Amino acid sequence: MLNHLTISELTARLARREVSARETMQSCLDQIQRVDGQVKAFLSHDSADALAQADTADRAIAAGESHRERPLLGVPVAVKDVMAVRNHPLNCGSKILGNFRSPYDATVVEKLRAAGAIVFGRLNMDEFAMGSSTENSAFFTTRNPWDDTRIPGGSSGGSAAAVAAHESIATLGSDTGGSIRQPAALCGCVGMKPTYGRVSRYGLVAFASSLDQIGPFTKDVRDSATLLEVISGIDHRDSTSVPQPVPHYAAGLTGDIRGLRLGLPKEYMIGGLDPEVKASVDAAVAQLQKLGAEVVEISLPHTDYAAATYYIIAPAEASANLARFDGVRYGARVDGADPIQMYCNTRGAGFGPEVKRRIILGTYVLSSGYYDAYYLRAQKVRTLIRQDFLNAFEKVDAIVTPTTPTAAFKAGEKSDDPLQMYLSDVFTISCNLAGICGISIPCGFTKSPKLPIGLQILGKPFGEETMLKIAHAYEQATAWHKERAPIAG
Ligand code: GLN
Repeated sequence: MLNHLTISELTARLARREVSARETMQSCLDQIQRVDGQVKAFLSHDSADALAQADTADRAIAAGESHRERPLLGVPVAVKDVMAVRNHPLNCGSKILGNFRSPYDATVVEKLRAAGAIVFGRLNMDEFAMGSSTENSAFFTTRNPWDDTRIPGGSSGGSAAAVAAHESIATLGSDTGGSIRQPAALCGCVGMKPTYGRVSRYGLVAFASSLDQIGPFTKDVRDSATLLEVISGIDHRDSTSVPQPVPHYAAGLTGDIRGLRLGLPKEYMIGGLDPEVKASVDAAVAQLQKLGAEVVEISLPHTDYAAATYYIIAPAEASANLARFDGVRYGARVDGADPIQMYCNTRGAGFGPEVKRRIILGTYVLSSGYYDAYYLRAQKVRTLIRQDFLNAFEKVDAIVTPTTPTAAFKAGEKSDDPLQMYLSDVFTISCNLAGICGISIPCGFTKSPKLPIGLQILGKPFGEETMLKIAHAYEQATAWHKERAPIAG
């Protein structure tokens, strides 16, 4: 089945004219038709538009265009419902945007199109990317393709589930505190958060602007490298994107990691770590050692404060960013006697409970009298957390940890307990606070039920090449990434 192919397998076959982009797109659409009633990864997709784009790609291939110039020519890629796609709905998993359609393409979408990708479909997410399970979506909860009584992770749960259920060849998500790596781990695919500034955020609806970053979900590490190369680079429309040259990431996947130094942070071996997750991560570390990497224990002493720091900074930024959804500029409006009443009615009806909680928390920590005690202090701790990583990276080339403390939990299990939900991100949050890069790759399964486990590799700022090389070498030596969720066929 063509929908099972990776980007590299598909583009090789397209280039040899063994398959067409139309057939491939059709096989993804058929898969959506077959499984998405159960998985519920997609909020919407436009089959006619997807097939028309596929025909355009087929004509370009017939005219002799090569994948060297356009590396994603004919490759279906779906995106999280938080990135602007021209003339398509943009809801951020929320009711407050109503029937809003985006008048322009996000930079990453422009780049995907320029590389020849077929951009189709909008993927479910927690409302405004706040959550770890997609249960905060205003529309429905996405299900884990490995077990439909469980959540796929979040907030990019739709992006992870669509790849794991082989409904799209690859997808994009966004990661503010773990929203790419955590769902990738729980669904058994590869998910990467690039270094802050690597990828333009223009056209990504902002949650916490100093933490948000867009990244790929793929079936293997090579595809992750390919997609990263396409979406990276400076963009004058996002002043936080950096003028750093974009390497040819896939060329760095040599399989040779001899002599690289990997750090194991002792603070990550916490009590709540599931024994099966720990065993898989231990085995992965042993495998990396066997491949010639040198493993040393390191310390990231401020780890304990990461979650508390994140849950001050992220809501503070969110409370400011979400002020624009007021019934005047975009989407839904609930009228009132005067403008103030109209704002209140619109926001009261349009935002879900988690978004309201974050706005209230964020407004509180920024208010006069509390700013110094909370927000300013959190910013200082953030600097210490970043310093921990920079110190560690003087001694090691990358850091290895579990991605999540447990495998996928049951739908409903944590939805009444925000604190428990927040703690599912303990291993992923620091990476965003520090602005470094991180990737999650499959490293095993729990026994019963069989659920994927993720290994997180954290890299230096703009150290994606080395991080990908390590991830790839591990992947080459193991077969976890080849296992398919039964529903995927
Ligand atoms: N789960 C975290 C939160 O709820 C991270 C979300 C994200 O990375 N977008 O904020």
